[in-house]
Amino acid sequence: MKILVINAGSSSLKYQLIDMTDESVLAKGNAERIGIEDSILKHLPTGREKVEIPAPMKTHTEAMKLVIKTLINPEYGVIKDMDEIAAVGHRVLHGGAKIFQSVVVDDDVKKVIKENFDLGPLHNPANLMGIEACQDVMPNTPMVAVFDTAFHQTMPEEAYMYALPYEAYEKYSIRRYGFHGTSHRYISKRIAKLLGKSPESIKIITCHLGNGSSVAAINGGKCVDTSMGLTPLEGLPMGTRCGSIDPAIIPFLMEKEDMTPEEMNVYMNKKSGVLGISGLSSDFRDLEKAAIKGDKKATLALDMFCYSVKKYIGAYAAAMDGVDYIIFTAGIGENTPSVREKVCANLDYMGVKIDKKKNNQIPGKLGKEGCISANDSKVGIYVVPTNEELMIARDTVEILGL
Ligand code: AMP
Repeated sequence: MKILVINAGSSSLKYQLIDMTDESVLAKGNAERIGIEDSILKHLPTGREKVEIPAPMKTHTEAMKLVIKTLINPEYGVIKDMDEIAAVGHRVLHGGAKIFQSVVVDDDVKKVIKENFDLGPLHNPANLMGIEACQDVMPNTPMVAVFDTAFHQTMPEEAYMYALPYEAYEKYSIRRYGFHGTSHRYISKRIAKLLGKSPESIKIITCHLGNGSSVAAINGGKCVDTSMGLTPLEGLPMGTRCGSIDPAIIPFLMEKEDMTPEEMNVYMNKKSGVLGISGLSSDFRDLEKAAIKGDKKATLALDMFCYSVKKYIGAYAAAMDGVDYIIFTAGIGENTPSVREKVCANLDYMGVKIDKKKNNQIPGKLGKEGCISANDSKVGIYVVPTNEELMIARDTVEILGL
């Protein structure tokens, strides 16, 4: 059985076709620059050469038509007929406070996605366009929506409320929602499987460290706290996002620099984070190279990032009255041993002790996934590659009972 996973952005549509008999990826790709000049579809059938198809795509529906045409193309396609696609799983950013789990797409679900346009202005409208484009092109194929916020809905009130006047919550639903939920959930299931334990029996801290980064405290398989908030801006400093700052800085800078709310948003989301500090790059590979050459600001950016992750680990161990496992995932978490080492440094007093040799061998000699803690570490430290697309495909199969 084959499941198509869709992640629609405002001008892009990413896809992956997964064969659920062995959970292998048959093909993946991205329709880029939808609604803009020079739109192009980049398609990668597994084990074969990448194909680039320049074609006008004015709308997501046109992009979706081209995706299907490409998937069934006799030369570089991977299926014979669209009917081979049993169902579609859609990534959706914000489900607000109403969505606790993945759901079959119907009019009510589309309404919830719309109701949350304000909370996810860049993503939710695009996600809905992706769903409607698929419904146009594949009207008889069932669809499931998998929300980035859903996994965090188990957070207790004391963790998700902001100490603003209560009416801010009642009037505008201002509270912490958390993001990367599909990744944190995948990791929590994967680590339990790897350990041969039930998710209910362990306390874990998952560190999703990528261009966007978040940490989650997961107690007995349920999220009890996470670092992102109303939007994905809160928490750790990220590639280009500032993370948590004193809120008083915002009106101060807006006044001093004569910035509109929109400009301030761009400043905090696109110009800050490790890019803003280093003045160099948002990519940790560039920062590491520069730091090795002695670049002070690149070093500072890396140190700030690691310090912040470490503080969340301390906080979440306190929040859960202990921690059994710490897991690193996503671009940085999976590929940057120096960050993992700095984050875990000097945490011996709380039973966290990294094995530097093992740490340096993932990715590498020890593969991509595995244990990096010392034999005498009370807390297990692991690297586990995330796979949000597979989680979406699994949910789609489960929810539709396929
Ligand atoms: P993500 O958002 O999860 O794709 O993570 C992207 C970030 O991971 C990049 O901006 C890099 O800073 C970092 N990174 C470090 N090493 C690698 C690698 N080998 N492959 C991909 N990303 C890497």
